[in-house]
Amino acid sequence: MVQKANMPCWYPVTNTKGETRRPHIQCNCGQLMSVGNHHIHMDGRVTASFYHREVPEKGCGWHVHLHLLDYDQGEWLPGRTEQEASKDFD
Ligand SMILES: [Zn+2]
Repeated sequence: MVQKANMPCWYPVTNTKGETRRPHIQCNCGQLMSVGNHHIHMDGRVTASFYHREVPEKGCGWHVHLHLLDYDQGEWLPGRTEQEASKDFD
């Protein structure tokens, strides 16, 4: 996985059992992160808006409404379900 700054994108996530998990988002600054408190829709829209809190050397302040291109990982509701938490690996 190559990470470059200023190239926001998303990555599919699969756990060790081969199950599809909530995808990760690469911020405009290059940091990879989970968006567990967001709703990822079937068509790739993400609500509410994505905000990388501006903290010196940690967060870049990027604040946008995401639309994941070529998204095909299904719908993820905001918040971690018990099932999701029990299968989590990170
Ligand atoms: Zn950022």
